[in-house]
Amino acid sequence: ATAPAGLLAPKDLFGAERVNARGFDLTDEEMLAQIDAVRDVTLPDAAPLTVASPAGQHRPVVNPATGEVIAHVTEADAETVAAAITNAAPWTAPVATRADVLRKAADLYEANFGLIFAALAKEAGKTLPDAVGELREAVDFLRYYALEAEKSDMAPRGVFTAISPWNFPLAIFTGQIAAGLATGNAVLAKPAEQTPLIAAIAVRLLHEAGVPTHALQLLPGEGATVGADLTSDARVSGVVFTGSTDTALLIRRAMAANMVPSAPLIAETGGLNAMIVDSTALPEQAVRDIVASAFRSAGQRCSALRCLYVQEDVAPHLIEMIKGAMDQLVVADPWLLSTDVGPVIDEEAQSQINAYISAAQAEGRVLHQRAAPEVGHFVAPTLIKVDGIQTLEREIFGPVLHVATFKGRDLEKVIAAVNAKGYGLTFGLHTRIDTRVQEVADGIHVGNLYVNRNQIGAIVGSQPFGGEGLSGTGPKAGGPLYLKRFVQPQAAGAAG
Ligand code: GLU
Repeated sequence: ATAPAGLLAPKDLFGAERVNARGFDLTDEEMLAQIDAVRDVTLPDAAPLTVASPAGQHRPVVNPATGEVIAHVTEADAETVAAAITNAAPWTAPVATRADVLRKAADLYEANFGLIFAALAKEAGKTLPDAVGELREAVDFLRYYALEAEKSDMAPRGVFTAISPWNFPLAIFTGQIAAGLATGNAVLAKPAEQTPLIAAIAVRLLHEAGVPTHALQLLPGEGATVGADLTSDARVSGVVFTGSTDTALLIRRAMAANMVPSAPLIAETGGLNAMIVDSTALPEQAVRDIVASAFRSAGQRCSALRCLYVQEDVAPHLIEMIKGAMDQLVVADPWLLSTDVGPVIDEEAQSQINAYISAAQAEGRVLHQRAAPEVGHFVAPTLIKVDGIQTLEREIFGPVLHVATFKGRDLEKVIAAVNAKGYGLTFGLHTRIDTRVQEVADGIHVGNLYVNRNQIGAIVGSQPFGGEGLSGTGPKAGGPLYLKRFVQPQAAGAAG
């Protein structure tokens, strides 16, 4: 694969070699011309990619920004799933070979950036900067797990089911698969119902790189059918899942009833993520990071900021600044380079989020709202007031930010209120008091704490991502412990 123009050099500012993806320069004219050339590309239909010949129901796939049908998917039927499980065979090639194939896949992903960006925009409503970030993360997972697997060759568990979400249809989809394959397992991948096209593109590239078809099979379909079959078969040795906390509990029950007791569930689930901004924070910096954390990706990240706590004395000024920053957000066609906020994933998500906003409106709690396009599944970025320091009841997976105020002496109460909900994914803190950073770090129960920056976009290798409590089982994705759950524990010990 030849490196496309506009691909940044794999060195950091100090000239050191980097493991992380080079990234794509969206100010490079040649790169923009190449992206423009794929604007009207026809995305290939998706179907199960299995050893045996697949069959199943046809269903249209819809562009969330326009509501138009862009392609079709054939969803796997029960026989196709059963045959895929029967044919699944761990990848017995030496670890060095597996790692090289995954690195080759990373190169192929980068070389196919145009098709991938088009699929991310048309099928998942990703903005171009989000698509760039997502491709980089996918490539990082491939290269990082290849490297980690090579450090200590460990015995695979056997066959893994990988169930991934629509909000990172390439990065999380690829991360789960790469972890399973790097460690020599067979992977049965079920993408989210909304995003089978990008999944099929990814699996074709992985097969093209040299992953055997019996080691990686794609099974598009519904959670209630394909997902249920893949998590309740005694021949499956483990499940890796990203999605809702409720679904993770369903999977755990199905696994407990059907699989060996040692079969692991590696789950990344929801969050009720908060941020504290105290009166010493730099307001311009805080506002930039608040708006990015709450509204980038239309708020459709588990890491996204849901509830902001601002110290009372600076709150009126800061909230005015947030409103001003919201007025600058461009909510539009994700393919336009100027767009900040694209659509939400589908009509169901749109109507649920809008119903929530309407209820807040009826209670007089909407402080500010940006307009959104009429056509397509857009939701207007909205700021909602919360009384007292209570936190939210449930996760609203869209561009909705809640704001509460607190008195300086109540900081501990804020931390206790956030902890009390039982989730623990990300937390943001803006302060210039060093001892406060330590106080919050000691008190808050979260996987990822971010200080004086935004709280989204964890970088593979340097910011392992994952939560505690209701937010996930660990180990963290993109971190050194992740692969240990994909292998036999006794063999890991022996490899030392
Ligand atoms: N890893 C992503 C981030 O740091 C979030 C993953 C998710 O939404 O599931 O923003």
